[in-house]
Amino acid sequence: MTPGGAVTRETLAALDAADPLARFRERFALPRDVVYLDGNSLGAMPRAASRRVAEVAEREWAEGLIRSWNDAGWIDLATRIGEKIGRIIGAAPASTIVADSTSVNLFKLLAAALRLRPGRRVILSEAGNFPTDLYIAQGLAALLGEGHELRSVAAESLPAALDESVAVMMLTHVNYHTGAMHDMAALTAQAHAKGALALWDLAHSAGAVPLALASAQADLAVGCGYKFLNGGPGAPAFLHVAPALQAQIRYPITGWLAHAAPFAFEPGFRPATGIAAAAVGTPPVLSLACLECGVDIALEAPMEILRAKSLAQSDLFMRLIEERCAGAGLAIVTPREEQRRGSQVSLRHPDAWPIMQALIARGVIGDFRAPDVLRFGITPLYLRYAELWDAVEALRDILATEAWRDPRYAARRAVT
Ligand SMILES: *Cc1c(COP(=O)(O)O)cnc(C)c1O
Repeated sequence: MTPGGAVTRETLAALDAADPLARFRERFALPRDVVYLDGNSLGAMPRAASRRVAEVAEREWAEGLIRSWNDAGWIDLATRIGEKIGRIIGAAPASTIVADSTSVNLFKLLAAALRLRPGRRVILSEAGNFPTDLYIAQGLAALLGEGHELRSVAAESLPAALDESVAVMMLTHVNYHTGAMHDMAALTAQAHAKGALALWDLAHSAGAVPLALASAQADLAVGCGYKFLNGGPGAPAFLHVAPALQAQIRYPITGWLAHAAPFAFEPGFRPATGIAAAAVGTPPVLSLACLECGVDIALEAPMEILRAKSLAQSDLFMRLIEERCAGAGLAIVTPREEQRRGSQVSLRHPDAWPIMQALIARGVIGDFRAPDVLRFGITPLYLRYAELWDAVEALRDILATEAWRDPRYAARRAVT
């Protein structure tokens, strides 16, 4: 496909044949009749994950029993996998650990950030941030009282809203709804210029876009294991604390696995040194085993090649939407500029819900985000170019024939 040249399914199949990442597709178990465009919500299953879970259950758990905490290294899993994720996000060594959920990690780091900036009471965020991020900040502000507040502003108002009352600026690097991406280094520098800390949520970034937390001087970060890292449903999350903060930071949840000597069973809490103090309780070993399989694949795939394919695929998808679904009422929400978008394409349509249900019924799986967005995740590790053609053709047909008006697509379900 040359820029400006006609796109056909054949030209896309040729891109697949020349794709340097093509070999990664077979590392994932995907149903034959599905075009999967929701890896930004739940990544596909690495084939290694089901084998690994069986091995951990049958050998390490059933036979090793409690000995496996030492013999199979269960006790080190959270730091070992955290270290690998640290490489993916461009963080300094010994600054990332796997723990809890993204929501809980946000609570831990926001509370710690407020303690690091006594006298400042504001958590600054973006209106339109992922709801759990805002909810956690609201709950923490209510718990602390005494003037603590979450202040959410439009993205373009962030620099002006950064003032001496802000303790921490909490932003999601790639917006879940629109796919828009912030300039992490620039905004972090602006926060620092006002004495505020910068906390980045990498839920839609880790494993999806190049990240350089250390060089961006990000203070704190959280992220998700089950999206682009393909760690499995409900996979544990990760958190990062810049080395320079680790000696001062105090976490609000002081569980025994954050203790300097958990098995000394001392009556008083003494924090571990370094990132280990960000742990809380016993880690979910089976889930960690799955997560490590996804993280290992992400480490194997060169990020420059992954990003180039992601941008090419999202460009192509938007171009096909414009060419083949013209006049069908779809509006592209995702920014077109490469440095301003993550790895998804969002389309607005007033009937987004039933249209997405009709697409899913044809095996093209994306998702719906209220009130009117069709969301398509671009996952270059396992997505083929020709599949994007098939997805757009299905969408074109559903819109042209109004197949989405079938009443069976109207019913709302618990999870969208
Ligand atoms: C997916 C996502 C989360 C998920 O949080 P959980 O605690 O794992 O449910 C949080 N924040 C953002 C920005 C997300 O995209």
